[in-house]
Amino acid sequence: MATMQNDSEPVDPRIDLVGMDRDDLKGVTDALGEPAYRSRQLYQWIYQRGVTDFAEMHNLSKATRAKLDETYRIGRPAVGTAQQSVDGTRKWLLGFADGNLAETVFIPEEPRGTLCVSSQVGCTLTCSFCHTGTQRLVRNLEASEIVGQIMLARDALDAWPAAAVNRPLTNIVMMGMGEPLYNFENVKKALSIVIDDEGLAMSRRRVTLSTSGIVPEIRRCGREIGCMLAISLHAVHDELRDELVPINRKYKIAELMDACRDYSTLSNARRITFEYVMLKGVNDSLAEARELVRLMSDIPSKVNLIPFNPWPGSVYECSSNNAIDRFASLLRDAGCVATVRSPRGQDIMAACGQLKSASVRQRRSAAAE
Ligand code: SF4
Repeated sequence: MATMQNDSEPVDPRIDLVGMDRDDLKGVTDALGEPAYRSRQLYQWIYQRGVTDFAEMHNLSKATRAKLDETYRIGRPAVGTAQQSVDGTRKWLLGFADGNLAETVFIPEEPRGTLCVSSQVGCTLTCSFCHTGTQRLVRNLEASEIVGQIMLARDALDAWPAAAVNRPLTNIVMMGMGEPLYNFENVKKALSIVIDDEGLAMSRRRVTLSTSGIVPEIRRCGREIGCMLAISLHAVHDELRDELVPINRKYKIAELMDACRDYSTLSNARRITFEYVMLKGVNDSLAEARELVRLMSDIPSKVNLIPFNPWPGSVYECSSNNAIDRFASLLRDAGCVATVRSPRGQDIMAACGQLKSASVRQRRSAAAE
């Protein structure tokens, strides 16, 4: 696994092939004067087999491999910090070529293994319960940096080839740092590689994009990406949602629900997941549970209740276990599918954005010394 580059190490000037889709790779092989089928072979080696060395591509001639190696590389993001929780959760703080950092988290839950992938460095939105929301947006991640997170996790989990049965990594959630629908083109390109049978070979039913509710882009996502959708709902009345998820001031709950209703038709998604963080005394009353049932009544959906994972400086507390149980029971009694997410990786700062903040603080204090 590549570790973070230190300033004295030379930068590899070759062009990274990771993040290139079929058309991009066709451009590469065309430019090298190779026949069209070479690009497909290259695509399979990179994304299905996970090779990082052209020398392993034994169905390519020696001369072709040498030509590729001269100009191109098959890279991975550099790992700044890799942590493993006592519960098996793994978290990587990744460093990109320009020194920016983003987080990727793997959550093993028999029989599943879910990778939580970031789409931006920081976030423009300022959801008040979210630690990443305290970090300003630095930039969008490139498609290569999004796909690179998944490829790095596959390396660490020994999860190649991509299409193998019994692989530890079964699900992808675009739920890490950032609002994926504000980085639409890069996310779309990355996910096209992720769900391609000859690419990273994940079923689109196992790829979920989580959004705070960018209504016009939700419709576009249904038409152009067609993966599963999760909505960071967290409140059932506009007044409270305006505060918790400020994008609600632009796209109100009723409009968001309309977009969700359309999404199932546009994308063939079976159902939408509503994420609902449980905040003590803020959004956890039974009246709010009843309103949630009403909102979801004509949308194929399920609810994921998330016990709040406090971070330094947050103003919220997590609802009590009793309050969460009562809320979940009311939903279930009303016929909704409701799950309660078990807190994971608490010993490794798994609340989104925490590891990056800690690292930035460390760098700043080192620079001040
Ligand atoms: S919840 Fe998502 S959209 Fe809101 S601030 Fe955090 S990362 Fe951004």
